[in-house]
Amino acid sequence: MGLARDRGLLLPVQVPDVRDCLTAWQALPYRDLAVEIMRLYADLPTDELWRIVAASYTSFRAPEVTPVVPVGPLHVLELFHGPTLAFKDVALQFLGNLFERLLQERGGHLTILGATSGDTGSAAICGVRAREAMRIFVMHPHGRISAIQERQMTSVLDDNVFNLAVDGTFDDCQRIMKEIFGDLAFKDRYALGSVNSINWARLLAQIVYYFYAAFRVMERSGADRVRFAVPTGNFGDIFAGYLAARMGLPITRLVLATNENDILSRFFRDGDYSIGSVQPTLSPAMDIQVASNFERYLYYRTGECPETMRRIMEFFRTHGRLPSDLPEAAGTETLIVAGKGDTEATRDTIRRIDRDYDYLVDPHTAVGISVAMDHLDDDEPMICLATAHPAKFPDAIRTSIGRDAAHHPLIDALEGMPTRCETIGASVETVKTYIADHAAGGERMEGAAP
Ligand SMILES: *Cc1c(COP(=O)(O)O)cnc(C)c1O
Repeated sequence: MGLARDRGLLLPVQVPDVRDCLTAWQALPYRDLAVEIMRLYADLPTDELWRIVAASYTSFRAPEVTPVVPVGPLHVLELFHGPTLAFKDVALQFLGNLFERLLQERGGHLTILGATSGDTGSAAICGVRAREAMRIFVMHPHGRISAIQERQMTSVLDDNVFNLAVDGTFDDCQRIMKEIFGDLAFKDRYALGSVNSINWARLLAQIVYYFYAAFRVMERSGADRVRFAVPTGNFGDIFAGYLAARMGLPITRLVLATNENDILSRFFRDGDYSIGSVQPTLSPAMDIQVASNFERYLYYRTGECPETMRRIMEFFRTHGRLPSDLPEAAGTETLIVAGKGDTEATRDTIRRIDRDYDYLVDPHTAVGISVAMDHLDDDEPMICLATAHPAKFPDAIRTSIGRDAAHHPLIDALEGMPTRCETIGASVETVKTYIADHAAGGERMEGAAP
């Protein structure tokens, strides 16, 4: 399910405290750890959960799924070993298998609607392609994602995959998506499901690698607590880290890093959360102004009161900013610190990490590392999330280091592949009509969304 029926986002009633489990979990391989964490939240028999998790990570090229490598003073958590080379595979491979399992039990079909700033789309498509009971419609902002990202999506020719190039920005795509999910009759009629990080199951899969990485780094360094640096767009990835900390993983700092689209870092630095216009950067997956998961975080920050949240979000919808007198729960925030890595800092970081440590980072990862450098501490190792393989962004790499060094066979293979995509206006009605025309087919669409 995407949005809840009142248009809010779903959260678990309770976030479990797992401090007593940490010692036992420390030695677990990735998949076993995933099952231990997920079963606290998922209403599925453990052996089935195990099968879903195992099936989800066979497509990863690293045996550890998400290995952590030392790079100078940092520990880099490589999240890009999945089939589309971005961290979103970790959650979306899982989600594809989870949807399939739920549909087997409940019957019927599912229409998946997604919006992408670049990487979600290909990962989601890869997670559900050729699955018979699902059709997927993915909107991306026309001309605003990289050529490689576009080709990764549009070269998937399976009958159940529909790529929509929307004449607008990512925020337009996300707004259209939320409007459509808010139309309950439409949502029910077509059994709409979500692959965006408004879907709780995505966050659930992402909590796992915070635990896995912290265990590896604590064991390696002897430290008893860690910091994480997270390049941030929609606040999904970092919110998974926030949940890991709430569950009791000893994280002392979550370093939130944005590019020039810095609404989130402004909030954490000055309390100012107001929408600006989207500026294209070298890290397009973070060219976002309205971060949908931020709402989830605000719930905790403002004292876990649904009524307060309703008022805050109402104010935000009307004014395009949060109220300046935001209520704040006791023990004000010290976990999240924020900073901005602009284009110059991004290039400089790619160059320095390559020169000093012979390690290539993609521009999103570079934004995270550039801000992480301001928050290093001798006793608390810094784990930097590497969210994409550098080969997804060869232009940024070439113009930063002056060499054509970023390659991957999966990316090279895209050259010259046939593609399929529909260009479409940025309006709710147009997109709804397209879905109705292509998801329809009477009996195919009966049954409720999981
Ligand atoms: C999606 C994405 C991000 C941002 O993640 P959020 O969960 O939206 O904050 C960062 N880097 C890459 C490569 C991405 O694809």
